Amino acid sequence: MIGAWCFLDRYGPLSFTDEKPMDVAPHPHIGLQTVSWLYEGEVLHRDSLGNENLIRPGELNIMTSGAAIAHSEETPVENRGRLNGAQLWVALPEARRNGNPEFQHVDDVPELALANGTMRLFVGRHGGTSSPAQVHTPLLGAELALRAGETMLELEPEHEHGILVEEGRVEAEGQPLLVSSLYYLPAGRSSLTLTSERAARALLLGGLPFPEPILMWWNFVARSWDEIEDARVQWNGGDRFGAVHGYRGARLEAPELKRPAGPQPMS
Ligand code: MN
Repeated sequence: MIGAWCFLDRYGPLSFTDEKPMDVAPHPHIGLQTVSWLYEGEVLHRDSLGNENLIRPGELNIMTSGAAIAHSEETPVENRGRLNGAQLWVALPEARRNGNPEFQHVDDVPELALANGTMRLFVGRHGGTSSPAQVHTPLLGAELALRAGETMLELEPEHEHGILVEEGRVEAEGQPLLVSSLYYLPAGRSSLTLTSERAARALLLGGLPFPEPILMWWNFVARSWDEIEDARVQWNGGDRFGAVHGYRGARLEAPELKRPAGPQPMS
C-alpha cells in the first residue's frame, strides 16, 4: 500500500478497430473507492445507484462503495479507437467502509505549474490547491507532465509516496527510473527532485500510512474472511448490491473462495 492506495490497474495504450478493449460486466465492491483516470479514449460507467457516466481524459470518476455497490465499465459504441488509463483503488477507513455508496464525477481537475512541467492533481492537495475528489484519508494522486530539465516537488513528510514513470527518461536524485515500475518512497521525505532528459509523464501517489490491516479478495476490501464470504454469497445469490441497469450481457459471478490467508500487515 501507499497510504490508503491499495491497487493500481494500469491498462493500455491500446489501439483497436472492431474489438471492445474494455468490457467489465456488472460486479460488486465493498470497502473501497475506485479512482478512474484516463490518458486516452473513453469508458462508460454504470452503477447500482443509477448513474451512467462517460469519462474522458482529464476527467475523474471516483466511486465509493461503502458497504455495497455494483457497477459495469465498458468502451462505448462510439469511441476514438484508443484506450489508455489507470484505475486505482483506495481502502476505506473503518469509520467509512460500512457507510453509503456514492459516485462523484469531476469534470476538470486542478492543473499546477511545476519548475519544468505541469501537475494534474486528481486526488488530494499540493501546495495550496486541492482536488474536488472526496476521499476519507489524507491522499495524493497526480499526473506529472515533465519537460526536459529539473523539477523539485515538495512532498508531505508524513506521507509515503510512489512514483510510476509512464514514458520518458527520468532520474530521481540521480537514480534512473525504469518505465512502468512503481517506486516506493517511505515517509519522512519533504521533497523529490526529478530530472528529465526530454518530455516525460509520470504518476505520483502519496498518502498517510494506512493503520488498519486489510484483506483484499476479488473485488472486495475487508478485514476478515467472514466479511468476504458474506459479500461473495450475497452477490452471487442475494440482493445486497442492487442492480446495474443498461448493461447488455450477464454479470460477473464471484469465484469460489479458496485457501484464505490472514489480513496483510499495513504498508
Ligand atoms: Mn469495479
